[in-house]
Amino acid sequence: MSWEMDPQLGRVVVGEEELKKRVTELGSKISEDYAGKTVLLVGVLKGAIIFISDLARAISVPVELDFMAVSSYGSATQTSGVVRIIKDLDADLTDKHVIVVEDIVDSGLTLNYLMRNLSARGPASLAVCALLVKTGIQYTQLNLAYVGFEIPPEFVVGYGLDVAEAYRNLPYIANYLGGE
Ligand code: 5GP
Repeated sequence: MSWEMDPQLGRVVVGEEELKKRVTELGSKISEDYAGKTVLLVGVLKGAIIFISDLARAISVPVELDFMAVSSYGSATQTSGVVRIIKDLDADLTDKHVIVVEDIVDSGLTLNYLMRNLSARGPASLAVCALLVKTGIQYTQLNLAYVGFEIPPEFVVGYGLDVAEAYRNLPYIANYLGGE
């Protein structure tokens, strides 16, 4: 079945070409900002995997990759702000130029926790690159150096983002309508 025929998918929120163009722009900006340096991209599993693999190829300075997996306590709609590290990084962050690569920032609580945790590990610098940020609902103080798109506060899937592991390979970002 083609994606267009899927009744659970709503409108296209960010199209394939828009994604490609913006990821290229973010890569160029990062390459400029980190000229002469090596960056360590830290991907937050699993949602960021598609984004990080495209972003890494759009960056022209040397790139290292590492991954961590986190889960937040509480339901999906009500983040508690307490985050558990399921898989930690392999890399030692001491003196590294770290960019945390996130799929989507909603309340910002996950990212807020991650930033506090990672900054305690002595990196040379620490920044965030988030593909999507939901407008109006970030209530924590986040320093988002690189943002792909601001989107309305609705549930989206695709380009790494899932519903119960489905839709990660959808090549664009779509509104998820649900249903059976
Ligand atoms: P936050 O802590 O910022 O509220 O939540 C961030 C995490 O919640 C994201 O990394 C992602 O895993 C999940 N999330 C938030 N909004 C969405 C959404 O619209 N779609 C999907 N698939 N996951 C989301």
